[in-house]
Amino acid sequence: MAANRTLLMLPGDGIGPEVAREVRRVIDWMDKRRAVRFDIQEDLVGGAAYDKYQVAIRDETMEIAQKVDAVLFGAVGGPAYDNVPRQHRPEAGLLRLRKDLDLFANLRPALTFDALLDASTLKPEVIKGLDMLIVRELTSGVYFGQPRGMQMYEGEERCVDTQAYTKAEIVRVAEVAFDLARKRRGKVSSAEKNNVMETGVFWKKTVTEVHQRFADVQLEHILADNCAMQLVRNPRQFDVIVCDNLFGDILSDVAAMLTGSLGMLPSASLGGVGPDGKRKALYEPVHGSAPDIAGKGLANPLAMLLSFAMALRYSFDMPEDAELIEQAAQAVLNSGIRTGDIMAPGCTQVGTEQMGKALIAELDKRAA
Ligand code: NAD
Repeated sequence: MAANRTLLMLPGDGIGPEVAREVRRVIDWMDKRRAVRFDIQEDLVGGAAYDKYQVAIRDETMEIAQKVDAVLFGAVGGPAYDNVPRQHRPEAGLLRLRKDLDLFANLRPALTFDALLDASTLKPEVIKGLDMLIVRELTSGVYFGQPRGMQMYEGEERCVDTQAYTKAEIVRVAEVAFDLARKRRGKVSSAEKNNVMETGVFWKKTVTEVHQRFADVQLEHILADNCAMQLVRNPRQFDVIVCDNLFGDILSDVAAMLTGSLGMLPSASLGGVGPDGKRKALYEPVHGSAPDIAGKGLANPLAMLLSFAMALRYSFDMPEDAELIEQAAQAVLNSGIRTGDIMAPGCTQVGTEQMGKALIAELDKRAA
């Protein structure tokens, strides 16, 4: 019998546990209807872990995270933790996961849902059918480079950040991008600024070298500023965009807003391939813990459910099941069912649980 798929669920704070509950519902459904078993462990992270253990994530939890096929993370944080010492703040849990698992590639898909075309600030004809992915380098670049900080320069105060990349750091993120493009439409756009930055020249040269091992994938180089412009002019020209930490931070937020609401956006962070042949991975919605609606049953669970779909695609090699969930989400939205964040005139407003149940009803129809 095939080994079970192992998953660590870390719902976290605020709406995290509420949206995570709906993933459990889908997993139970898959268990029954698709005969797919998951070994799930669940633990505390963020403020919830701090309340019980006075740390944002325990060593025991980290050990489990190192062993499982994938981590599914909800959200952390909230006003109750504003005065907690920095090293124990809820975000420290997520930062430790990213650091210890060495999650160097951040994946943000931008996928439009027909029923939500009006939620975007762009014209529907520009974004209809959009399906692209940004791969952002997450653990190096200008946010980490040394030296950084204040210094004296020619008798004047000066502040410095350093953009630095090793070859290996560029190679590994480029490999992820090419690999993913192979499973998609086979095109990678590498964004940098080789016209004005030394690291841009190096980035372009290194990505070109990596491309030799992925000759079946089309590679284009694009200046990051032009890429930002093209994202709002004609986003459908892109399949996979790969870029450094800083450009990725900005471009992925632009791409995110092409599609509308925060409650709809999934993400993944991938690390290296271990001796067991498995790639470390953490999946999480882009949104935070939404303290303003937490505990009210109002949160949109779709970002979390779509994050789980990404886990099925990228960690569990179950693309058909991932697609099933994505199509069910499309169908639920087409039927006019909406949570408050994506509510539109003429639609029916529901809460978190009803949205989850509507998705299950669609899954039932599709699997019948
Ligand atoms: P947020 O994403 O939590 O909320 C922003 C707005 O979007 C709020 O009005 C919220 O109600 C709404 N929203 C977010 N997700 C929603 C959903 N699924 N359904 C419906 N509405 C949704 O961002 P914020 O308000 O800036 O931060 C709140 C807390 O979350 C802070 O403590 C922050 O540090 C934390 N945060 C955590 C993460 C994470 O865990 N990765 C990410 C961002 C923010």
